[in-house]
Amino acid sequence: MDSKPSDSKIIDGKAFADGLRQRIAVAAASLRATHGLVPGLAVVLVGDDPASQVYVRNKGKATVAAGLVSVEHRLAATASQGDLLALIGTLNCDPAIHGILVQLPLPAQIDPTRVIEAIDPAKDVDGLHVVNIGRLWAGIPALAPCTPLGCVLLLKDRLGDLTGASAVVIGRSNLVGKPLAAMLLAEGCTVSVGHSKTRDLPALSRGADILVAAVGRPGLVRGGWIKPGATVIDVGINRVPVEGGGTRLVGDVAFDEALPVVDGITPVPGGVGPMTIACLLRNTVTAACRSHGIEMPSF
Ligand code: NAD
Repeated sequence: MDSKPSDSKIIDGKAFADGLRQRIAVAAASLRATHGLVPGLAVVLVGDDPASQVYVRNKGKATVAAGLVSVEHRLAATASQGDLLALIGTLNCDPAIHGILVQLPLPAQIDPTRVIEAIDPAKDVDGLHVVNIGRLWAGIPALAPCTPLGCVLLLKDRLGDLTGASAVVIGRSNLVGKPLAAMLLAEGCTVSVGHSKTRDLPALSRGADILVAAVGRPGLVRGGWIKPGATVIDVGINRVPVEGGGTRLVGDVAFDEALPVVDGITPVPGGVGPMTIACLLRNTVTAACRSHGIEMPSF
């Protein structure tokens, strides 16, 4: 335990994401003025899942607010895989579109792997295409998935150089855990990945200078799992009932237990969550610059 004030231990992802979005808007204005280039993002929504509709609306608003072009395509819940692949083919060839995001999950008749593989890897701003995953592991420039990219940006802002740190990522999904492990390895960390079959997760976690929880189990990581002075990134978003009715969002880390032990921790909400859309915009600008051979602005 240390005497560091609790406030200074909170890693404020919302404030960092707001700043990043402002820097992206400045970069976008400069690209427009200097090169006549306006990065364009196409978001494709299939069906009428209410949560997906909210995500798509929020992504569209943030894209426009940053001075980028936002195009939304909505297909009926009954759309066939062929319909969606045809749309992706059109967007792949559209020079005004630099990023394509297909909102997941997709209806049962559509194979998400087949759809992601159809996106031009140069426009794959979600970073889920095997070409980008392969590039990430090979340590060559790639479009990285937005949530893990957000985690790495927060860690570098907090800690500076990550070289030599011992990092444990709990969770091995293709969306978060696995790409984050690749990115931390590229930063020079010694990386372990824990998951549902790991024998002694508390012992593994206690070795971490950087501990990331990306599981989807409320409060899984207890205070006693954390090395004193570690930096903890809580990716989990879990809705739990509260006494007296209603619900609230909590992470995968037992926050109140963790706070006295850590050097820094992302809260839920207000930690990693806001970074995801900011990184989507960042990837769209990156994709637009690469497609025109323009040097990347510094964000
Ligand atoms: P997922 O369900 O695809 O993967 C969960 C991983 O956790 C699996 O690899 C599994 O092996 C591991 N796991 C499950 N139970 C475990 C246990 N008891 N002990 C150890 N490991 C266990 O989930 P995901 O898509 O990677 O998302 C993880 C969490 O992150 C979810 O809460 C999700 O809502 C959240 N998330 C947040 C953002 C964001 O902040 N923008 C983005 C994506 C995901």
